[in-house]
Amino acid sequence: MKTIIAANWKTYKTWDQAKTSTRELINLLPQDTFTEKEVILFPSPVLLKIVAETVQNSQITCGAQNFYPVTEGAFTGETGTTQLHDLGCTHVLIGHSERRHILHESEELITQKLHFALQEGLTPVLCIGETLAERKQGLVEAILAGQLESALAQNKNVTDIIVAYEPVWAIGTGEVAGPEEITAAHACIRQWLKNHLPTGENIPVLYGGSVKPKNCSQILSLDNMNGVLVGGASLEAEIFSKIVLA
Ligand code: PEP
Repeated sequence: MKTIIAANWKTYKTWDQAKTSTRELINLLPQDTFTEKEVILFPSPVLLKIVAETVQNSQITCGAQNFYPVTEGAFTGETGTTQLHDLGCTHVLIGHSERRHILHESEELITQKLHFALQEGLTPVLCIGETLAERKQGLVEAILAGQLESALAQNKNVTDIIVAYEPVWAIGTGEVAGPEEITAAHACIRQWLKNHLPTGENIPVLYGGSVKPKNCSQILSLDNMNGVLVGGASLEAEIFSKIVLA
């Protein structure tokens, strides 16, 4: 399995910055990087076109941070999957903590999006993770299992999916989860996937939460670790390339 290094650009960058940054990244990554690594960029929806065009002749792929579970229709302000395919997207982020907690996306909508993405041939990156309060109450395993159960309950034959463990308290805070915390959470996720999905052993599980060049090698060496989802440190091509090349 290739190690997946994904970049979540959130609501940052203009058109020109996105183009420059993507070009810079392509130039910083030697061709043989991609024999072991898969690189996916998740820019804001208004930048998908320029990023998809720029990565066209490279091995970098791009995905959407959000979409509405329809192909098209009367859903003002939303993006449908026909548009995502047209832009060249291959992946979609689903259940990111900023969408769960700031945009109040429900488990029901997350489940709907996950199955719609699969039906439409887009690979979902399902983000799950506990809040600090939940961790303090000893609820980490229950929260992770609950979020997986809820998202995947409708269809346990899912194969083309990526799971990202993103503890809410470590996202954008500079506070990275410790190796024991990450290892325990990943073991719990892997066990759940193995127990519930026929190909649970082969589903990539990423870590996300304040990943930086200085901590990425240690994180990537942990058990059951198939890659990282990077927010802040993915915005500058040079910094992000260090994570990809770690
Ligand atoms: C993210 O947005 O998924 C993320 C992990 O952000 P950061 O790396 O900034 O914590």
